[in-house]
Amino acid sequence: MDQNQIQQQANNQENTYNVPPIKHVDIPRQDSQESATQNSAASINIPAPSQIQQQPQPAESQQIETEPAAKEAEPQKQPEPATPKNVGPSKLELLQDAILAGNIPQMVLNIISYALEVRSSDIHIEPEQNTVRLRYRVDGVLRQIVEYPLNIHPAVVSRVKIMSNLKIDEQRIPQDGRCEVTTKENREMDLRVSTLPTVNGEKIVMRLQDRSRKIPDLPELGLDKHNFELLKDALELPNGIILTSGPTGSGKTTTLYSCLSRLNDIKVNILTIEDPVEIQMNGLNQSQVHPDIDYTFASGLRTALRQDPDIIMVGEIRDKETIQIAIEASLTGHLVLSTIHTNSSVETLTRILNLGIQDFLMASTIELIIAQRLVRRLCSNCMKPAKPDKLLMERINNALENLGPKYLLTEEQLKNPTFYEPVGCEECDNVGYKGRVGLYEILRMNNELRKLILANANTIEIEKKAMEMGMVSLEQAGIIKAIQGTTSVDEVYRVAKKMESNQQ
Ligand SMILES: [Zn+2]
Repeated sequence: MDQNQIQQQANNQENTYNVPPIKHVDIPRQDSQESATQNSAASINIPAPSQIQQQPQPAESQQIETEPAAKEAEPQKQPEPATPKNVGPSKLELLQDAILAGNIPQMVLNIISYALEVRSSDIHIEPEQNTVRLRYRVDGVLRQIVEYPLNIHPAVVSRVKIMSNLKIDEQRIPQDGRCEVTTKENREMDLRVSTLPTVNGEKIVMRLQDRSRKIPDLPELGLDKHNFELLKDALELPNGIILTSGPTGSGKTTTLYSCLSRLNDIKVNILTIEDPVEIQMNGLNQSQVHPDIDYTFASGLRTALRQDPDIIMVGEIRDKETIQIAIEASLTGHLVLSTIHTNSSVETLTRILNLGIQDFLMASTIELIIAQRLVRRLCSNCMKPAKPDKLLMERINNALENLGPKYLLTEEQLKNPTFYEPVGCEECDNVGYKGRVGLYEILRMNNELRKLILANANTIEIEKKAMEMGMVSLEQAGIIKAIQGTTSVDEVYRVAKKMESNQQ
């Protein structure tokens, strides 16, 4: 293949990539094959591109660095400068070349390595009727990368299975495994691998977790001034329960880690019960649950109480037992942090009651509830002004009218809000968005709300009161971010369809 051809392929990222059928593929065998059933982690290294055969590298390509994985990261930073383009073969080209060459081990490494470069959180390898589709989830949305012929798929599956200590000869049942990957930039990645037998073959999903990911400091989370103060104050409480809520992948865990990193001090004993321990932090006693041997969130939390803790973080509250012990812990003078799977902060209260907790116990221990979502950040290089249609504008104005802390926007912004929409350029891979930022709705418990809870008020009444007292709803938080040019209105409403229930 000459340079022109390579260049042509680079120019079309979404291009399907047809290669002639490969007759046979050699997969290097590993010792780990025998112990396939064990859950031990394998470790692989992604070589620098220069190690790849048949591919002479200009020196510049060494400077291409991967960006931090953005799965749950929402730092309030300006978008990073674009990686230099057109300096030798890109990672995508290297991947395409490996497919062409039928070099399966190299192909799998390049799939992972390119995913890291584009800040992907999940890799999907999906066999279809005639071809196999490779897609990445970037900033919460799936994106097609390449297609490759179905006949090399079994070899790809085997390679991934070997890497993650799965049984290669078992193709009829789903399997889970994991392995560790160290990039050439010395970032430690945790790869969770899941296989699923489909009618066309085994589908593979790999979830990438950057273990060396920096935990954003509280101010970097993207909280507005109002919410920041609420959270900061709650973290100074000696006891009580602080919850973060939202769907999977909404950044709950990152927020908790940010809180813990702020609380992390030589004078306090912090224990965490997690599943899994996503990021290791010095100074914390982090424990991983093993439900299969009855070491659960609930039993872990109970044990934690015997370890003279000041602050306890429990990965998730999903049953009565866990919330009961959390309440017990709070009543005996501990600060408890956790996540719960609900859509809004007020809904969290209902959820706890539905778990069978008495209202007075809940009202006296829950101190603060954060509901959150991640929205994609507009690419500042290509975004352009936009005018939402009349219907949408009415909705926006209605939400702004009910905004409690009006000082979050200027008078001009409130009267004549301007909005932006994505366009797409080279810097954002023609998506129009790059990176994500958090939207937060923070409910701070107070006596007024406690009274309502004890009087059996419904969700709508409690929410109304909370907003009167200054709570910024997720919808309002999104509109504020849109007016500030951080995201688009479409993105705000795409991410939180549930927001409709917040409007009265
Ligand atoms: Zn752009």
